[in-house]
Amino acid sequence: MFKGIGKIIVDFIDSLFPTLCIGCDKPLGENEQVLCTNCRIQLPETGQHRSPHDERLMNKFAGKVPIQFIASYVYFTKGSIVQKIIHNIKYKGHKEAAKVMAGWYAYQLKHECDLTDQIDVIIGVPLHVSRLKQRGYNQAEWIAEGLGEVLNVPVRTDVLVRNRFEISQTYKNRLERWDNVKSVFTVYNQEAIAGKNVVLVDDVLTTGATLEACAIELLKSDCKSVSLITLATASKF
Ligand SMILES: [Zn+2]
Repeated sequence: MFKGIGKIIVDFIDSLFPTLCIGCDKPLGENEQVLCTNCRIQLPETGQHRSPHDERLMNKFAGKVPIQFIASYVYFTKGSIVQKIIHNIKYKGHKEAAKVMAGWYAYQLKHECDLTDQIDVIIGVPLHVSRLKQRGYNQAEWIAEGLGEVLNVPVRTDVLVRNRFEISQTYKNRLERWDNVKSVFTVYNQEAIAGKNVVLVDDVLTTGATLEACAIELLKSDCKSVSLITLATASKF
């Protein structure tokens, strides 16, 4: 009886404040989550997990840091629905959307390739503590949670720490790069990654500098391999 009344009240409140699609701002239907069906079928999926060792992808990191595989869910272009989605996730508090969409991609990873055999632990790229305070959440960790939940792989948020904001990209050579990036990120609880296949997670892959800096620290701390999964990629491949 009370449950029935409760549902009526919830439905009534929902009708006053419907949840909106983060792609087009239209009210979501009962079985829709985060994105309406129309926006979801328009997502420019990369399908990269079906050829995650593609040379064009790997060249981004070639000669800098060894990466096991790279896979991004969708392409990011200016003015696109994906740009709007990422903006909503990063700046408008839609952290749950990061988790839901990561879960969609994890489902594809699970059923369309064998990459999940190479994932022992998932780590989101950390924010600097002052940025975290400002935003209230780390979107990369929410993406990591979405992947981890569907793939049944542990997510660690106590391994990688960001010490400062910026990453200089003007190092003269590979060795200098390895020396200089060390103070941007620090690894704690090394035993959590030693000998393990680590997947680093971020929202958008652009220059790759941040992911590279993280990967260097993780590899220095004796993990077996580092791979990258992002929700979106600015690369065309
Ligand atoms: Zn929509």
